Amino acid sequence: MAQLDKVAALKDFGAEFIERMRHPDRDIRISIPVKMDDGSLKIFEGYRVEHNNARGPYKGGIRFHPDTEINEVKALAFWMTIKCAVAGIPMGGGKGGITVDPKNLSKGELERLSRGWVQKLVDNLGPQKDVPAPDVNTTPEIMSWMVDEYEKLTGDKTGATFTGKPLDKGGSEGRGAATGMGGFFVFDALRADLNLPEKCKVVIQGFGNVGSNAAEIFEAHGHIVMAVSDSKGGIYNENGLDIKALIEHKKNTGSLSGFPGAKDLTNEELLETPCDLLVPAAFENVITDANAPKLRAKALLELANGPVTPEADEILFKAGIPVIPDVLANSGGVTVSYFEWDQNLKNEKWTEVDVNAKLKTILDDSSKKIFATSKELNTNLRNSAFILALERVKEKMK
Ligand code: NAD
Repeated sequence: MAQLDKVAALKDFGAEFIERMRHPDRDIRISIPVKMDDGSLKIFEGYRVEHNNARGPYKGGIRFHPDTEINEVKALAFWMTIKCAVAGIPMGGGKGGITVDPKNLSKGELERLSRGWVQKLVDNLGPQKDVPAPDVNTTPEIMSWMVDEYEKLTGDKTGATFTGKPLDKGGSEGRGAATGMGGFFVFDALRADLNLPEKCKVVIQGFGNVGSNAAEIFEAHGHIVMAVSDSKGGIYNENGLDIKALIEHKKNTGSLSGFPGAKDLTNEELLETPCDLLVPAAFENVITDANAPKLRAKALLELANGPVTPEADEILFKAGIPVIPDVLANSGGVTVSYFEWDQNLKNEKWTEVDVNAKLKTILDDSSKKIFATSKELNTNLRNSAFILALERVKEKMK
């Protein structure tokens, strides 16, 4: 909401529209009873927030995390409205979640919990109503359980109610890497405008779906990925890490630490490492007014949602460090989700080359528009992205 206030002060959208944006259309809390493997019954708390569907069905991921709660999901749903409008796709904003640490569940318990989320929300979901996708700790396999449950309950055979499905269950080529790939396309479209070198030194926080794919893609395009981290800590090699070997190392040892030729560092040290591009790809609120003055990056690419607080945003803008905002930088994920939905409804199968070409066209266009607006209004890229998105949402709501 602080981000929305800043934009409302820069451009007059009308008080009524801004007030509408402050409130999600619907905010649903559910209790999900799950029979645990030991025979006991446990009740989990789940959520779906439907923020705005002026431009199309509500769209947004489902997060399984012990810290997930309704206000986090509301913020994430609002960002989805903005993000889908930034990308110009015909989707609205939604988000879901369950307060749970999936690492403490057996596979069977996880499946029953995932199916339980669908059972409670079935009336709200559907290809033209609300289309969820994976987010933190939710995988293509979880989406396949959910789509199966939805089909059992409703008879819908399009598969288009969930995106991020496995390839053999209606998933799209390119969806797994889409957020990282989209982040790279956005970076590439803006690199020269932001005065970044052709060969950037890159530091990435988070080595899950988004972070590890981004690391591979930046490396494949000739950039040097110097440091990466996960929840246990990070590693650093100023000459660059071999990302394929590192993914293998993490798979075998369960940790990044101990990778040959790299030294260990904490997540705090990682954020403060001198580099051309810092890529937060883990969680929200990791760059705050406390550590923003210590950053030694030339630019930031927000692949996580909300990693930079509004206070830190101001500090970085004044310091001349551009932040490529989440609603643009990570919109590749939802854009390819939209492609998946579209393919399911038309019963088509596009190649990865086609998917990436369409993705690049969309993101190049949005990146250039947002950069131009930021110059015109002398404001940061986030405000400029919000202005573009709010104009598009308001137009549809009219
Ligand atoms: P994920 O669960 O696959 O990975 C999360 C990563 O963050 C893991 O490597 C984890 O170890 C790491 N992590 C957790 N706590 C950390 C900490 N304190 N310090 C450093 N690393 C930490 O999740 P993901 O799908 O890669 O999502 C990451 C971020 O990207 C989230 O903010 C998510 O909302 C956003 N996002 C994801 C997608 C997508 O398509 N998956 C799309 C848009 C945005």
